[in-house]
Parts: sequence; structure tokens; C-alpha cells
Amino acid sequence: MFDLLVKNANLQDGRSRIDVACSKGRIVAVEPNVIGQAREVIDATGRLVIPPFVDAHWHLDGALLHGNPYSNESGTLYEGIEIWSKLKNTASVEDYKERARRVLCWAIANGSLHIRCQTDICDPQLRAVQALIEVRDELRPYIDLQLVAFPQDGYLRDPNGIKLMKRALDMGMDAVGGIPDYELTAPLGYEAVRQLCELADKRGLLVDMHIDQTTDPQSRQIEAIAQECIRLKMGARISASHCPSMANYDDYYADKLIAQLARLPQSGLPNPDLLDQLTAREREVVALVAHGFTNEQIAGRLVVSPATAKTHVSRAMVKLRALSLLSRDHFASANDGETRWPNSNCLDGIGCLQHDQVGVIPLRNAIPIET
Ligand SMILES: [Zn+2]
Repeated sequence: MFDLLVKNANLQDGRSRIDVACSKGRIVAVEPNVIGQAREVIDATGRLVIPPFVDAHWHLDGALLHGNPYSNESGTLYEGIEIWSKLKNTASVEDYKERARRVLCWAIANGSLHIRCQTDICDPQLRAVQALIEVRDELRPYIDLQLVAFPQDGYLRDPNGIKLMKRALDMGMDAVGGIPDYELTAPLGYEAVRQLCELADKRGLLVDMHIDQTTDPQSRQIEAIAQECIRLKMGARISASHCPSMANYDDYYADKLIAQLARLPQSGLPNPDLLDQLTAREREVVALVAHGFTNEQIAGRLVVSPATAKTHVSRAMVKLRALSLLSRDHFASANDGETRWPNSNCLDGIGCLQHDQVGVIPLRNAIPIET
């Protein structure tokens, strides 16, 4: 007897009218016409059935606050931080919980069942931390919420940062965050990276830091976090989020950095066999993406429509198992002279070091093109 049998499902690998059987919380059969009884049967009637989405970067403590107390007119990160600093000491635990619950219910309804949430710890009363831990535990049967202790005002810059981080971790946060480029000097940023990674290592926690989240090509905290991966042998337990400065690095430094990242243990190098699955045109497209070309530029270069270019890019990324819109945007923005802020509340913020879909970065060297 199965616990659940989903019949007539279409799968993302192209198979159609497939049955999916589950027992004790695990998928035990994926094939046409599964035989057997089930406690619950769902007829998918040919609809797409896929694993739940993973949303790797949220700030639920700041959700649903647009325009409160006023809008971010400049659209800059720093105005956003300033507005948030006015708000966070006025919100109650219940307010944090109510807004987080609303967003998480929408996420569940739309199939996002694994969310990593950065949570500001720079409030002496740690109200957001308390609220989100309670909501995480309350909704645990429905959604996997992973909480990162995020020192929004700087781990070293905030006079209470070190103390509050320790208290937040003692309360039960899942991972250690950081914002090294917000420390007062670059050396203090490096020091924050070192201390935070050591703290996480000692406690057996994950690390997910906001890294180089400026337009400054001199912001190079990413090399510090890469060094900590090696020094502490933490490998894929460390993520570097955002990294938009990478878009503005000169080629010499970018090549050196990319080679350094590619050598990291468990850094998710692309499987070379995956390259063989690409058609000649898709290899061409991937090489252009890796060199920073936008879809429009690729279309111009290959003399196809932008829609066709987009299709080629999407297919290649699926074959490479690449969520590489992140990498593509970073490199693309270096090329067209603009720097775009990643949207902090979407997958754009996924870690460069951790994700096994970071294949496009090493590909920049793997597939040479004429420029
Ligand atoms: Zn963020």
C-alpha cells in the first residue's frame, strides 16, 4: 500500500502519463501504470509534476513593508538599509510573525518548499530572530525554512554585533551570515569573514554571506571567503551571495578569481560530460553567455531573433543543470557597461561558491570564443 499515488503526470524530462508512487515520505516508483493501492490518489491529468522549488535568498523580516515608512527613492542598497534601520526597532514579534506567515503560505501554495531566509540580528531585542524561529518551527511540517543570522549593520561595525550574533545562534539559527563590504574598511571586512567562518565551523553551521554587494570593482571579499573554504576545509558549507562587484572586475583579476573558485573543494565544478550533451549551437551560445553576452547580443552575433537566442540559452542551461542566470547577469553586466543589482528576493542571490549550477563560470575558459 502506497501512501500517495500521483497518476498521469508529465515530468520535466519529457516523459508523459507517468505514475509517481510515494511511501513513508519517499518516492518509491516513477513509471507508467504503477500497480498497487494507495491511501491517496491524485490524477494529475497530464499536468507537469516537478520537485518543489528552492528559494535560496529571502529576508522575511522585511517582507511586505514596501512604502513603510516611505519608499526607497534612490533605489540604492544603502537607502534600503537606512529605511530598514528605522523600521526594525518598531516592529513587534507578532508583526514579524504575521508577515512571515503570509509570505510562507504563498510560497507553499506555489510550490516553494525550501527557503533560506536571512534574518537581521542587529536588534538588541532580537525580535525578528525570535519570531522567525517560532514560525520556522510552527510551519516545519509544510516548509523547510533555513534561518541565516544576518548582521545587517555589520558584524564588527555594530558595537553589539559579536554579542548579538552569539545570542542569535544560541537561540537556534541555522547558519551564519555576514556583510563584509559594510564593515568600515576592507581589512575589517576580511576580518569579519574570517571570524564568522570560524564561528560557523566551531558550531558546525553553514555560512551564507552577502559578498561584494556593491558596484566597486575593488571590492574583493570573495577571495577572502574562498580562502576560508580552503583554510577551514568547509567547502560547500560556505555560500557567497550576490557578488555583483564581480561584474566589474577587470579580466585579469576575474580570470585569476575564477580559477581560484574552480579549484575550491566541492565547489560544484560542472561535470565535463554535460558539455557533450550540448549541440554545436548550444556550445556556441554557452560560450557567449560565459563571456558576458546578453541574449540580445547573442542574437545579433548569431543572426537569430532574441527569442530564439533565449530559447538556446534556456535549453543549454537546463542541460548543464545551470541556474546560471546569476552568472550570466553578472558577466553580462560587465560587458554592457551597466551594473544591475540582483533582486535580493529571488534566486539571483544564490551563492556562487556553493551551488552546483555554477557551471557557466568555469566554462568561460573551457570554451574559447573569438572576441
Ligand atoms: Zn540579501
